[in-house]
Amino acid sequence: MGREEQGMKWALIGASDIASTRVIPALRILGHEVYGVMSSDSDRSAKYAQENGITHHSTNLEEVLSWPVDAVYISTTNEKHASQAVAAAQVHKHILCEKPIAMNLIDAQKMIDEAKSNDVVLAANHHIRTSGVHQKIREMIADGQLGDLYLARINHAVSLPERLQGWRLSAGNKGGGVVLDITVHNVDTLRAALGSNIVEVTALTASNGLSKVGLEDTSNCLFRFESGVLANTVESFLVPYSQTTFEIHGSKGSILATGVMTQDPTGEITLTNASGSHSIEISDRENLYVKTLRQFENACKGGGTPYSTGEDGFASLQGALAVLQSAQEKRTISISKVAK
Ligand code: NDP
Repeated sequence: MGREEQGMKWALIGASDIASTRVIPALRILGHEVYGVMSSDSDRSAKYAQENGITHHSTNLEEVLSWPVDAVYISTTNEKHASQAVAAAQVHKHILCEKPIAMNLIDAQKMIDEAKSNDVVLAANHHIRTSGVHQKIREMIADGQLGDLYLARINHAVSLPERLQGWRLSAGNKGGGVVLDITVHNVDTLRAALGSNIVEVTALTASNGLSKVGLEDTSNCLFRFESGVLANTVESFLVPYSQTTFEIHGSKGSILATGVMTQDPTGEITLTNASGSHSIEISDRENLYVKTLRQFENACKGGGTPYSTGEDGFASLQGALAVLQSAQEKRTISISKVAK
C-alpha cells in the first residue's frame, strides 16, 4: 500500500480528555496511526501514552514536531493553541485545532496566515456542524423548505461533567468560562446553517458560583446576521435537565430540532408548515468525530476543505469575543469593532 492510501500519522499535542474519549477512537476507526502524544508533564505523558496505547510521548514541542507525522491534533488548554499551531505549520504539519482556535483575533489570524504560507490545512474542531442532523437542516434550508429566514434559536444549556470542572472554571488565562467553551460552537453552528456572518452582538452573562474565580457559567446572546436573521443562543454549565434544541423559522416553515447540540449523532427534526407537522427522516447517524477527521484527511490530500476551516474558527472566536465584550461593556458590539 502506498503512502497515499495509508491512513494519516498523527501527533497529539495535549494529553486531554477529548483526545482520549473522542478523537483517538475516531482516528483508529479510520485506520489512522496515533504516533505520539505530548504533555507538559513527563509523568502524565508516559501514563497517557500507556493508557491509550500510544508508542511515543514527549514533553518537548520541538521533538514532537520532528516526529514522522502528517498532522497534529491540538487539544491543550486554549491559551496554548495558537503558538503550537504556528510552530506546527512552520514545519509543514497539517493542523486540526480545538476550539476556540486562539484566545484573541491577532493570534487566530497568525495561525491562518502561517498555515496558508506553509501550504498546510488548518481546521477548527467544531464537531456539531458535521452531524447528519445539522447537514439535513442545511439541505432543507437550501431546498427553500423554510422560505425566507427570519429567526433562529439555540438552547445549549447543559451540566458540566465533574471531570471537566478544572481549568474551565478556575483559570481565566486559560480561556475558561462557558462562552469560549460552548458559545463558540453555537456561533459555528449558526454560521453554517444560515450561510451568513454575524454583524452585531448583544449579550448578558452570569456567574452563579460554579467558578470560584467568577468566570461566567451562563450566557444569553443575541446575534444579527448579514442576511438579516436574528439569532438567540443560551448556554450554561449548570442545567442538568434541559434538552438541547435548535430552531429556525422562515416564511414557509419552521424547524424544531431536539437533542442536537451534542457530541453524538443524535436528535430529531420536526418541520411545521402549511400542511402540518412532519417528522424528518435522518439517514446519516455517523460519529461526528469520524466525519470531521475523514473530511480533514481528504482536505490534506487535496480534496476540498475541512468542515470548519481556520477562517471558520476565526469567525466563531470573533462571535464569542463579541459576546464577552458586549456583556462586559453592557452595549451592542459591531463585529468589525471586536477588540482583537
Ligand atoms: P482536559 O482538561 O482534559 O485537557 C486539557 C489540558 O489539561 C491537557 O492538555 C493537559 O495538559 C491538562 N490536563 C489534563 N488532565 C490533567 C490532570 N489530571 N492534571 C493536570 N493537568 C491535566 O481538557 P478537554 O479535553 O476538556 O479540552 C481540551 C481542549 O479541547 C479545549 O480547547 C476544549 O475547548 C476542547 N474541547 C473540544 C470539544 C469538542 O468536541 N470539539 C469537547 C471538549 C473539549 P498537558 O497536555 O500539558 O498534559
